[in-house]
This record gives sequence, structure tokens and C-alpha cells, in this order.
Amino acid sequence: MHLVEKMVNKQLVTAETLKLATLKQNKVEVEVLRLDKIHEVISGNKWFKLKNYLSHAMLHNYRTVITFGGPYSNHIVATAWAANRTGLHSVGVIRGERPIHLSQSLQMAAHFGMHLKFISRSSFQNRKEAANVLALSREFKNSYLIEEGGFGLPGIQGSGEILELVEKARYSHILCAIGTGTMFLGLANGSDLKQQITGICILKGMPDLMPGYKDWLESPDKMDYCRIHYDYHFGGYAKKNQLLFNFMNRFYADTAIRTDFVYTGKLFYAAIDLVNKKHFPAGSRLLVIHSGGLQGNLSLPKGTLNF
Ligand SMILES: *Cc1c(COP(=O)(O)O)cnc(C)c1O
Repeated sequence: MHLVEKMVNKQLVTAETLKLATLKQNKVEVEVLRLDKIHEVISGNKWFKLKNYLSHAMLHNYRTVITFGGPYSNHIVATAWAANRTGLHSVGVIRGERPIHLSQSLQMAAHFGMHLKFISRSSFQNRKEAANVLALSREFKNSYLIEEGGFGLPGIQGSGEILELVEKARYSHILCAIGTGTMFLGLANGSDLKQQITGICILKGMPDLMPGYKDWLESPDKMDYCRIHYDYHFGGYAKKNQLLFNFMNRFYADTAIRTDFVYTGKLFYAAIDLVNKKHFPAGSRLLVIHSGGLQGNLSLPKGTLNF
């Protein structure tokens, strides 16, 4: 278990105050929790989401961890790296046909020793059916399954520890990006009851996620303090446009903070836009979680970003 704790250096994480004219004008203070600095490979929220699964797998002497994801998944890379560090084998079940050229993420995962198994989109959708789970456990003996994105109680509980890095009572609002929602739920459970948890959903066409999230909240009363915004996906998961790139470049010029185009670029765009629209009352103190993911920018053509 100590091995898992020692994988990252939490001391590298800082909370940095943003100095932007619009924040002053709107009397809103923003601090950025730089989880992206925690480790160069397993950056951002991924270690928090994985730590309990890995400890469990080690404690119970599993040989292999199996997890799921798309070809650009940060979770796949993180699992490959972390399993490698703990001496566990890893298998990544990847959505879709094996491409001729592996994405940067899949190349990295393979580099860390992950066995990549490609399955069709429909099989991927049905991955939780008993017969499919059984087939995987037969193919990979003594293996421990981790859901896509680390979703589930151990992932949510691990993410709750993110707020132990700050003096959390200082903040009125906590903002984060939502992929699977594991981190969002962890932050909701790890926060004080009356702190607002604001999630920016980076997937398109999602229904209201809160009813499904309700059962994962430790206190049902927290529902009233959770809020998800669905209008900042820029066309969908990993979709991007010049408006987003211009924002990311300007944000870097103004703050020296790099963001990624899949999650944190959209998160900070939303945060600033919501401030401009006076969504947060004067006097609000926001903590925005920089959840990492910067290696995802490697898939962009050179020159797209100024950093
Ligand atoms: C994985 C990831 C997220 C999404 O986290 P969930 O817990 O799946 O919602 C957010 N930001 C970055 C940079 C990520 O890599």
C-alpha cells in the first residue's frame, strides 16, 4: 500500500491565485489547484482515482489489472504506468478496431507494458454483461477489473482526498471537468455540505447526470449544492475549434498555465465565461481543479498552441 502512496509527490501540488481583470471587476477570487504538477506521467486526478483499486489489487495478490477506455484515454495511460510501478500486469480493453497507427496515448500505454486488446464499439458497450466479464477473466487469469475512468466507489473515495491538499473551508465553489464524473462525485463527498460543486461536462448530448449521481452522494442533501453545466463541450468529447485554441493561448499568456484541449481548456473557458456572465455572486471564492491531461495536446498539429 505504501508503494501506491509513494508513487506521486503531493508536495508539488500548489493552489495558485489567478490575476485576471474580469475577476477583479466581478469581485470573484479564483485559485487553481495544480494537480497537473503531481507527476509528469500520472498527472492530474488519475492517481487519486486509481489508488484504491491498485492497493486492493496488490493486497489481494491479483496478477493483472484490466481496464477500459477509448484510444485517447488518459486513464489508460495512467493505469499502464501505475500498474507497471506496482509490478502488476495490465490489460487495456480499447474501444474500436486496432488502428494502423496507435495514438500517442496507446503508444505510451504499450511502452509501460500494457497489453492492448481492441474490441468493437458494440462489444465495448456491452462490456459489463456477465458473459463478457467471464470471458475476460478466463483470458486473463487472476485479474482485477477497473471500470472505464476508474468509476465506482474506490475511485470516488480516492478523488475525495483531492481536497485534503487545500484548506477547503476557504472556498465557496469548487469547479472541475466531468468525464465519467468520478472526480466530481469525490469532490462532492469530500467537500463541506454547503460548498457548491460545479461540474463542466465535456461530453455532448448528455442527459441530466444528477439523478444517476444521486446514489453515489454520501449525503442526499448535497444534491442541492451540485450543479452541472452542459454547454461547454465545444462539439463533443475531444472536439476542438479555433475559439478554444485562442482561449487556451490567451489563458497561457495571461496566467502561464497550460491547459489541455479535452478537459481543462474547456473547464477554464467555462469558469471565465461564467464569471463574465455574473453566475457567481460577488465575494465568491472559487477553487478550480486543474486535472492535468496535458500530454493529450501531443496529438495536435505543431504550432496550434503557443506552449
Ligand atoms: C480523466 C480526466 C478528467 C475526467 O475525470 P472523471 O473523473 O472521469 O470525470 C478530467 N480532466 C482530465 C485532465 C482528465 O484526464
